[in-house]
This record gives sequence, structure tokens and C-alpha cells, in this order.
Amino acid sequence: MKSRGLYVGRFQPYHNGHQSVLNEVSGEVDEIIIGVGSAQMSHDVNNPFTAGERVLMITRSLEDLGCPFYVIPIEDIQRNALWVAHVRSIAPPFDHVYSSNPLVVQLFSESGVDVIAPRMHMRHDHSGTEIRRRMLNNEPWEDLVPPAVVEVIEEIDGVNRLIRISGSD
Ligand code: NAD
Repeated sequence: MKSRGLYVGRFQPYHNGHQSVLNEVSGEVDEIIIGVGSAQMSHDVNNPFTAGERVLMITRSLEDLGCPFYVIPIEDIQRNALWVAHVRSIAPPFDHVYSSNPLVVQLFSESGVDVIAPRMHMRHDHSGTEIRRRMLNNEPWEDLVPPAVVEVIEEIDGVNRLIRISGSD
């Protein structure tokens, strides 16, 4: 039977830290499921990109991964206690979860799932919060994400979207 690992994140945006984790995970499992969390969120300062845009960023960045992967949008639900069942109802079956998010780790561990905390890669700069801050302040952010993510963000005029929605009326 194939071993399948689940990696969940918000990916606002998908960055080099996420990419390094998935490169490592690709050597540990037969297939990877990437759950795009908070799929219902977009067009706000902390969640500027739609689930579809994040799927594009991830799919294009992983073209050369060398390991089969599936990208699945997952909407949030109101009850944390039911979230693991919600994820299981959407994703292909999986054996391991890769996450360092404390709530994600806690919820999967309580359900008896094997959770592995991947190594952090340059956490200070390789963070969605830092990348969005740089975009808003007209500082260079492009080196912190895979080239395919730069392409997607340019295609959708994502930096201007973020700047506009951060403004007040
Ligand atoms: P994220 O995009 O911030 O991070 C994704 C993963 O990458 C995390 O494990 C994080 O630790 C890791 N990471 C981040 N920077 C890294 C770096 N530089 N190097 C290596 N790894 C790095 O996303 P997140 O906040 O972890 O996403 C969790 C998702 O699960 C959210 O969408 C959240 O809403 C969802 N969730 C929903 C419920 C619910 O609906 N009730 C409950 C729990 C979680």
C-alpha cells in the first residue's frame, strides 16, 4: 500500500519555506496531499489570495518534485473538535501529517494520527506575514517565493490587490 503524507497550510502566499518542507517530504512518502486551508478566505489583508490562486502557485512550483501530489482546498469549520473528520472527508486517505502549527498538531495527535514537525527554513523571512508586509511596503519579496509564485502573483496583479484592500475609505 502507498504511504501518503498530508501537509496543511494557508499558503498566503506559498513560499520557499513550504517548498523546502515538501522537497524533504517527497523523499519520505510515496504520495503527498497538500491541503489548502482556509479555502473560503481571500481578498483580506491576511488572506489576499483565493484557494484557486494558491492551488496554481503550489501546482506550478512543484512541477519537478518527482513525487505524485494532490492539491485539495479545505474550508474552515466552526468546530475545531470536528476538523480532523472534516479533513478526512475531503482528502484522499493519509498515514502521516506534516505540520508545526500547534493547533493542527494538537487536533491530529488527539485523533491518533502520526504527526511529524518539519524543520523550519529561515523562519524569520520565509513567512507569509513577512512576505505580505514587504509587498505592502514596496520592499523586495520575490526571492522568498518560488519563481512560479512570482508569475502567478504578477498574473493576478496580486500586490496591487493587497495594497488596495489594506487601504481605508
Ligand atoms: P501556513 O501557511 O502558515 O504554514 C503551513 C505549514 O508550513 C505549517 O506547518 C508551518 O509551520 C510551516 N512553515 C511555515 N513557515 C515555514 C518555514 N519558513 N520553514 C518550514 N516550514 C514552515 O499555514 P497554517 O497556519 O499552518 O495553516 C493551517 C490551516 O489549517 C489554516 O488554514 C487553518 O485555518 C486550518 N485549520 C482549520 C481549523 C478549523 O477549520 N476549525 C482547525 C485547525 C486548522
